[in-house]
Amino acid sequence: MDMNQYKQRLLELETRLSARAAREREGARGQVLDTPGDMGDASVADEGQSEDFAEGELDATVLQQVRDALKRIDSGTYGRCVVDGRPIEPKRLEAAPWTPYCLKHQTQVEQDAQQKTPTL
Ligand SMILES: [Zn+2]
Repeated sequence: MDMNQYKQRLLELETRLSARAAREREGARGQVLDTPGDMGDASVADEGQSEDFAEGELDATVLQQVRDALKRIDSGTYGRCVVDGRPIEPKRLEAAPWTPYCLKHQTQVEQDAQQKTPTL
């Protein structure tokens, strides 16, 4: 496996995601400050804000995973599932170089997350 290639991609991602996160924080602040007195406009601004927030949350999760992946490259455990230590499928790494799980455990983690979410 060409570690440097993955490291390069991860470093670029980290730069891009943290720059975007910083921009979004500024944008969110701007929206709050610029909220007009008119109720109609305010509700539109609120909707836009919650969408940005959801996207920002996703970025924050990926950014954390990207940083963890960079640490794993440095410690020499990159490319292995953090649960069972087995090699992660190359196609998964190609598509999402920050992924900490093999396909089996990714599926398991997602199922666990769904079960924790109360479905009413
Ligand atoms: Zn695994």
